[in-house]
Amino acid sequence: MLNDELQEEKVFKDPVHHSIYVQDLTIWKLINTPEFQRLRRIRQLGTSYLTFHGAEHSRLSHSLGVYEITRKIISQFERNRYAGWPQEEKLLSLCASLLHDVGHGPFSHSLEQIFHTHHEQWTQDIILGDTGVNRVLREVDPQFPDKVASVINKKYEKPIVVSLVSSQMDADRMDYLLRDAYFTGVNYGTFDLDRILRVLRPFKGRIVVKESGMHAVEDYLMSRYQMYWQVYFHPVTRSSEIVLRQILRRASELCQEGYSFSFMLPPIRGLLEGSIGLHHYLMLDEAMLQTAFGQWSEEKDELLSDLCQRFLNRMLYKYIPLEQKDQPWLEKVRQEWQRIGLNPDYHMEVDTPMDSPYDVYKPGALPDENDKPPILLLDEQEQLTEISVKSDIIQSIAGLQRGKYYFYYPEDRILPHTHSLSFETRKKLSL
Ligand code: ZN
Repeated sequence: MLNDELQEEKVFKDPVHHSIYVQDLTIWKLINTPEFQRLRRIRQLGTSYLTFHGAEHSRLSHSLGVYEITRKIISQFERNRYAGWPQEEKLLSLCASLLHDVGHGPFSHSLEQIFHTHHEQWTQDIILGDTGVNRVLREVDPQFPDKVASVINKKYEKPIVVSLVSSQMDADRMDYLLRDAYFTGVNYGTFDLDRILRVLRPFKGRIVVKESGMHAVEDYLMSRYQMYWQVYFHPVTRSSEIVLRQILRRASELCQEGYSFSFMLPPIRGLLEGSIGLHHYLMLDEAMLQTAFGQWSEEKDELLSDLCQRFLNRMLYKYIPLEQKDQPWLEKVRQEWQRIGLNPDYHMEVDTPMDSPYDVYKPGALPDENDKPPILLLDEQEQLTEISVKSDIIQSIAGLQRGKYYFYYPEDRILPHTHSLSFETRKKLSL
């Protein structure tokens, strides 16, 4: 085991936590690896900057924030000398927090839907593969990369360590809510982080909340609820994701047809062909994709060129709310779109935000690997109660599945043909 203390602590200024303190040499070295630095070139909120212009914050800033919250929680446990916190797991917890998102690629969620890759798998590959991150972790102990990977994929033997990084009130969620609220500029999303950190306790192998902290947790869950509807599911952001997915889908179709692109880079080709390896994956970033979109906006393929121009110039699809997902008039719209020369496979889409992971709070998390442990309150008699049993506010939003459907289409392409659309379509689209 190496001496892991830095001679002098390093401090990062941060708009959410004010300062982020690094005391371990291993953490400092991990931050300086190319794989971690790459997260500067990937936005935390994907295409949300097209809705909220401030949302340019990177996955690097979020990762440092998650590390800092974990560090604060552990420091509180240590200062109060709470029994039940395994002190020897501190460095492991900090490394897992810092690296939990290291596998995210550019516009992660949209890319994953089209190419069926998973950032969780890339995270494992980066930690266990031939990378700078792996070399730094191996200096601690040859088994250490495996341990960090197992905390992140929730298989580590001590659930208390896993729950710091992955539970319904973990360091990850607490950082992204505060950070996303700050950078989008919305007023929701704020809650009293200091208060929550003060009422966390290690208890019988898990992290629980002292009962007097219930109202601070209510505030945190209400923030999640608000952020889902005001930011994460914003229909304009969904529209930009639709256009982005369509670019990727079209480019990948053309690639399969053997189309000759005027501009292509090996990592992008690997992605489109579904054969990308770690080396090329680590070269991908949002700037590279946006450069390609810029070049493709002058492609011979009109569809690809139009979609790229839309994405870069924010000429997104218009949306109208639908009462339900399947409506008979949508089939007629397909025919009408075809008649006026539009491509119904691209120029219309029904979107259901509800299909995305939507979990403000699930009271009775099952022992399934995708479910995260619920929030438990600890009372004076050392009894544990799941929080929605005691809180009316949390009970009212727990397990909620409220969906909204929207129909998306390029209004500018429809307007010149308004006269040839049916009365029903014109009425639905308010034309
Ligand atoms: Zn995260």
